[in-house]
Amino acid sequence: MSIQDNLNEIKQQIKDIADNCNRNPEDVNLIAVSKRQEINNIKQALSTGHLKFGENQIQEAGLKWLELKKDYNNVTLHMIGHLQSNKVKEAVALFDVIETLDSEKLAKALAKEQIKQDKELEYFIQVNTGEEDQKYGIKVKELDDFLSFCQNEQKLNITGLMSIPPESDLSSYHFALLSKLAKRCKLDRISMGMSGDFEQAILFGSTNIRLGTSIFGKRDKV
Ligand SMILES: *Cc1c(COP(=O)(O)O)cnc(C)c1O
Repeated sequence: MSIQDNLNEIKQQIKDIADNCNRNPEDVNLIAVSKRQEINNIKQALSTGHLKFGENQIQEAGLKWLELKKDYNNVTLHMIGHLQSNKVKEAVALFDVIETLDSEKLAKALAKEQIKQDKELEYFIQVNTGEEDQKYGIKVKELDDFLSFCQNEQKLNITGLMSIPPESDLSSYHFALLSKLAKRCKLDRISMGMSGDFEQAILFGSTNIRLGTSIFGKRDKV
């Protein structure tokens, strides 16, 4: 199947799943994860009118999207990988949404850079729902303080939470937790669900599913 066919099929699936759980399909945004995909594959997705994409690596994203965004200037580009605070200049210039806000140092650097570039992005806080040492993200018990720091002190536009569940766990536990946290924090957006578990994620209230493989097929290993 072509990338165009995959996208159409997935969008129909999203609609069916949302209908089944009484959600508005328009509240579920499909982020096409184009990391490690060739430009031609991305162009095929763009040719269907799809406009929301995700990348996880700043340098690679720049190489592809600085050019592509000239032709497709209404694309919304989401950063879904860890961002180092010494890369905020490139990140603020290129991305529209950063889903992986995960430290005070990064929040401060982004706030400063936004003022410099006179550009306001949208942010999600990455929550380490699995409390994994090797994974980035704010710990659940530190979330309230971190949110308040970002909103009140750094004046960042925080609209949601994001999580990548541990591979060894059942995703649904993490989806339920992230959903509950977002409600408590009064944030509308919840980024969770990948190719293997997006149906569950939608049932648990996801507003941003991040799909790579199911749209583009298998990608090269890093
Ligand atoms: C790569 C990636 C995805 C997409 O994963 P697939 O399994 O290919 O759908 C989603 N979210 C994040 C954070 C990723 O790095």
